[in-house]
Amino acid sequence: MDEKEVFYTQLVDIAYKQLKSSSLFTFMNAIVLAFILYPYVNSIQLGIWIEFVFTISLYRYLMAKSYQTNPMRYSRQKWRKKFFNTLIISNIIWSIPPVLFFPNQNYMVQAAIIILYTALSAGAMSSFSSFPRAIRIYLIMFLGPLIIVLFLQNTQLYTAMGILLSLYTGLLIGIGNKFYTNYQEFFKMNQLYEEEKEKFSVSEERFEVIFKGAPVGFFFYDEHLIIREVNQKLIDFFKIPRDKLIGLDLHNILDRRILPALQTVLENRNGLYDGKFILNSLKKDIYINLQTSPMRNAEGKVMGGIGIVNNVTEKMEAQQKIERQAKYDILTDIPNRLMLHEQIKHEVLRYQRHNIIFAVLFLDLDHFKHINDSLGHDIGDKLLIKVAQVLERIIRTQDIVARLGGDEFVILLPDLSLDRKMAARKAELVAKKIYDALEATIMIDGHQFNISTSIGISLVNSVDETAEDILKHADLAMYQAKKDGRGVSRFYEKQMDSWIKRRLDLENGLKNSLHNGELQVYYQPIVEVISGKVIGAEALLRWNSKEFADVSPEEYISIAEESMLIIQIGNFVMQKAFEEFVVWKKQFANETTLEKIAINVSIRQFNCADFIENLKEAMKKSNIKPEDVEVELVESLVINDFEQAKEKMYELRNLGIRLSIDDFGTGYSSLSYLKQLPFSTLKIDREFIKDIEEDPEDKELVETILNIAKRFDLKVVAEGVETHGQYMFLLEQRCDFFQGFYCSKALDADSFVKLLREQHTYCPLGI
Ligand code: C2E
Ligand code: MG
Ligand code: MG
Repeated sequence: MDEKEVFYTQLVDIAYKQLKSSSLFTFMNAIVLAFILYPYVNSIQLGIWIEFVFTISLYRYLMAKSYQTNPMRYSRQKWRKKFFNTLIISNIIWSIPPVLFFPNQNYMVQAAIIILYTALSAGAMSSFSSFPRAIRIYLIMFLGPLIIVLFLQNTQLYTAMGILLSLYTGLLIGIGNKFYTNYQEFFKMNQLYEEEKEKFSVSEERFEVIFKGAPVGFFFYDEHLIIREVNQKLIDFFKIPRDKLIGLDLHNILDRRILPALQTVLENRNGLYDGKFILNSLKKDIYINLQTSPMRNAEGKVMGGIGIVNNVTEKMEAQQKIERQAKYDILTDIPNRLMLHEQIKHEVLRYQRHNIIFAVLFLDLDHFKHINDSLGHDIGDKLLIKVAQVLERIIRTQDIVARLGGDEFVILLPDLSLDRKMAARKAELVAKKIYDALEATIMIDGHQFNISTSIGISLVNSVDETAEDILKHADLAMYQAKKDGRGVSRFYEKQMDSWIKRRLDLENGLKNSLHNGELQVYYQPIVEVISGKVIGAEALLRWNSKEFADVSPEEYISIAEESMLIIQIGNFVMQKAFEEFVVWKKQFANETTLEKIAINVSIRQFNCADFIENLKEAMKKSNIKPEDVEVELVESLVINDFEQAKEKMYELRNLGIRLSIDDFGTGYSSLSYLKQLPFSTLKIDREFIKDIEEDPEDKELVETILNIAKRFDLKVVAEGVETHGQYMFLLEQRCDFFQGFYCSKALDADSFVKLLREQHTYCPLGI
């Protein structure tokens, strides 16, 4: 129902509410009038009139009753119509007495009629107050005939009375209209009031819900900063019972940083505090977001404030974690490259302003990759964490240890000195401290480590150097340190730039060589000492590079090792050597017995998880017999993880493959482990053979090796035999085989075939 409809319905309601009593009242007035008129007028006419009044009054009375019991019986319009229609009928009836009984009567009767009619019309005002039209109809029909009759008397007095009565009628109509507008206003006000009441109760309800159930803490406090009300969430946040919070004087809290935010509301402004908050009731510091707003009374005076508290600890912690992660190494929890960069930049600025020299130490753990490959990443990770801890322990508080990734650590030493020499000495001293600290045994999961590291040192040199330059210089110096033998430190020097460039070029060149046919396998004959017969060959890699003429196998093999290219290169060598050996073995079956093809397997290659698979595949493809294959391994291979190496070696031996110890004597391990490993051959390094003719110590050493080998049932190959004298010594000592320029250097496949075909014997025949 719209507003208008409600209003009109209310008007009808009011009219009908008064109708019952007004009908009764009207009828009673009619009786009074009849009583007054009875002695003077025609009693039959009067009787009929009373009869009419009675009927219409009764009808209206019943109509009012019916409305009250069932207002929905008719539409509002119909009820209204009924009201008006019966009013008109009633008025017609009431217009009879003035017309019929007023003229020719004595003054008493006339006065009674006038008084009664004016009184009745005044009374009717309240009955019809809701219908200004009804008032108009009523007054015109009720008083109109009387006024006309008065004027018709045509005497001064009657005319004056007519005028008075007319004015009176007009006055009543005016009052009626006023009633109506009052009604309208009243209705509007009422309507507004109802709406506001509704709104208020809704907002009160909402407030109640928000206050109690909001996911944020609420509290009200007065102008003296005393807490007056809190919600449950606030109690939960602060872990303080409600009765302790209510009445709490906020001046007395421990962390007073929030006070300004609380007090600003007293100046009629909103307040804000965002930050750490310390509370005795909580075990740890929290971060809160506190917003305060003034609370005013009806006059707008500030009575205190409302505080909304958000616990943003988790958000802050997550944010801090992200910030930390960006600058710290996840594994070791020390600064990472980004943070290091920032700090070096900072030092560069200080150098530019105050000439204070700083140093950057670049560390790379020696053999770390082997540890990772052989013992697994878990142990590798633990070792890195341990190293980070050791480094942090030995540096000064203003120094910074950062991890760049892998096994690379960088130490920034700020504030060394204004003097270059002094700064260099201090940096060297730190390097020494690092060696000492890392050399001490580190135990991880039952494994023992004595870490050596190569350290590159770079001192800030000129004001033009950037953080990147200095870090790069330290890196280059570290490479140099590695090259000069592990476990040493080197200061950066200008020429290192070109050295490192060459290294990078070589690495790229080597990468390409795999595809452009620059790689070849050469073969060095393995000769039986006693018969002088070629019984096999060692496959040796050759890189016939168009770009780098002077690169030695040692150099490119070590680059291949470091860049992991050795896996692919190793597979290439195996495949090629096996294929060619199978052909030769068949081809020269009548001339000589080719017993074996030896291949060199480096540590990285051996430790690669796929190594045995790759080897098997190469054997399968070439159709070579396992017994014809010999794998040469260097001693140091077993140093890092003896058990794992041993297991893999047995796996190879069980396939039927032979194993030899290459470069024997250059390593630092004892012979004791030889017993435990399935080697069948021992290769004495060229270094010991070189001087056997002159040096009795070397002579003795070779003799000893040959004796031990015999005891362990190992065949011995002497490497690097170049002279007849060396050969003769080996023959005397009953050495089994030799390799060396005395027979031949490593040959390409064609030359090797030619050598087999010509097959000359090296032992002095007949002796
Ligand atoms: P190695 O396994 O000890 O190989 C023997 C080295 O001694 C070869 O050097 C060979 O040319 C050289 N040699 C042989 N007889 C004589 C001699 O009478 N006098 C002198 N002065 N040298 C002689 P090369 O070919 O330069 O190889 C050097 C090292 O590179 C090898 O030492 C081996 O450890 C490694 N290497 C070579 N080819 C491969 C390969 O295919 N894979 C792996 N992993 N390493 C390889
Ligand atoms: Mg070898
Ligand atoms: Mg060797």
